[in-house]
Amino acid sequence: MNKIFDRHYPMIIDGKPVDTDSVSEIRSPFDGELVGTCSLGTAEAVDAAVAAARAAFPAWSGLADEERAEFCQKIGSVFEAHAVELASLITREQGKPLVAGGFGSQFEVGGCIGWSMATSQLSLTEEVLPAGEGLSVVQRRVPKGVVGSITPWNWPLLIAVWHILPALRTGNCVVIKPSELTPLSTLRAVELLNETLPAGVLNVVTGDGLVGAALSGHPDIDKIIFTGSTATGKKVMHAAAENITDCSLELGGNDPAIILPGTPVEAIAPGLFFGAFINAGQTCGAIKRVYVPEADHDALVAALAELAQATVVGNGLDDGVAMGPVQNEAQYEKVRKLTQDALKSGASLAAGGEPVGNGFALRPAILGNCRQDMAIVTEEQFGPALPIVPYPNLEQAIEWANEGEFGLCASVWGGESAERENVANAINAGTVYINTHAELNPMVPFGGVKASGIGVQFGVEGLKSFTDSKVFYERANG
Ligand code: NAD
Repeated sequence: MNKIFDRHYPMIIDGKPVDTDSVSEIRSPFDGELVGTCSLGTAEAVDAAVAAARAAFPAWSGLADEERAEFCQKIGSVFEAHAVELASLITREQGKPLVAGGFGSQFEVGGCIGWSMATSQLSLTEEVLPAGEGLSVVQRRVPKGVVGSITPWNWPLLIAVWHILPALRTGNCVVIKPSELTPLSTLRAVELLNETLPAGVLNVVTGDGLVGAALSGHPDIDKIIFTGSTATGKKVMHAAAENITDCSLELGGNDPAIILPGTPVEAIAPGLFFGAFINAGQTCGAIKRVYVPEADHDALVAALAELAQATVVGNGLDDGVAMGPVQNEAQYEKVRKLTQDALKSGASLAAGGEPVGNGFALRPAILGNCRQDMAIVTEEQFGPALPIVPYPNLEQAIEWANEGEFGLCASVWGGESAERENVANAINAGTVYINTHAELNPMVPFGGVKASGIGVQFGVEGLKSFTDSKVFYERANG
């Protein structure tokens, strides 16, 4: 048996391995090969994990700020020391290639290291606020207590780190529930981190939506941070409302890219292609629809099709593979259906769309002549298929870009700087990129508007969301 891959990964509660009678097999989305097994958690496991986190909270929150900063650095060092193992595990269970032009699973683990180190550098200082004579007022940020984290399957370990690190940094203890589709990299990471962290500070419970619901509705959770679909985010918010639990929601996106008139489209095609197909399109903040002037449509579609045809799709463990499979069957079927429906409604297939191998891999599809009313334009396809919509004038493109429930990211490409700025201002999204897309930085806030979410992650603002405000008024004696 291969020590790295074919093993059983237990839940970790109060620093100890915990199993249940029910076992889940995790298989590679490329070829169905067994990656490993884990127990399926239960509501009782959630109770035990929350109790362990609650018990660990006084000591953890009582540490000096610098001590927790040091722990964040140690966490970064653990990721560094186990980078090869964790990257392989992510590739095996999630599908993204190890390298993929620098944005595969090795990049994902690199992001875990970078975010851990960067979070150690962030700190929340107390603020002295203006007050009346003889009165001093100080506002401090205090940890909330126990943070429940629920993560999706697209960037399983990086998103786990985005939840765990700021929570721990600010003095909270954590119970994380990874996606039932990609639990192993999180289980292994929590196992490794528990060799460094005090018992109970970081716990992991596996399971599907029922276990997620038990966590988000748990009366002894002080905050829920959720990354996933908008449909599930609504359920999480409902469950949290029962106990007035604070929640941060990072939800779906249907990011538009607007190409301005007069842009040399061949020059921007590689940037657009990367922005759309990072992680085979399974990225919340990836380009999901492109609006191009009618006059430039054919040239852009041809340039993107050339890039799609040159993309090597396959098993992420193999050298030279740039794009892995869709992670799961339901998502694979969704992408195929949206593509087929678009073609039936008059879109033209310039490249891709066909399966590779016997699993869930698809060649990246470039769909020209799409219209605003097609489902592949109005819905989040979250996979390797990109609709290109020709637009008659810029006002129309802006109106189309702002349609729909989402408002995560958007991008504006080419044109003159004043025009770019006007368009960027007119788009309703949490992040607007200019001549680029899908950039993230641990020091820069990231979050969606409309149905794409509530709150931001990263930077000082992200850190604050794991704390409560506590204000002290003091009147001078006499
Ligand atoms: P999902 O909503 O199906 O599942 C996410 C997590 O929620 C999983 O762990 C799942 O087990 C859990 N869950 C399911 N039902 C639940 C319930 N009733 N209560 C609590 N938890 C429950 O999402 P997914 O398919 O894993 O991920 C893809 C989605 O995530 C896409 O919509 C994508 O845009 C979004 N996403 C958003 C961001 C962001 O930062 N905005 C980042 C990554 C992914």
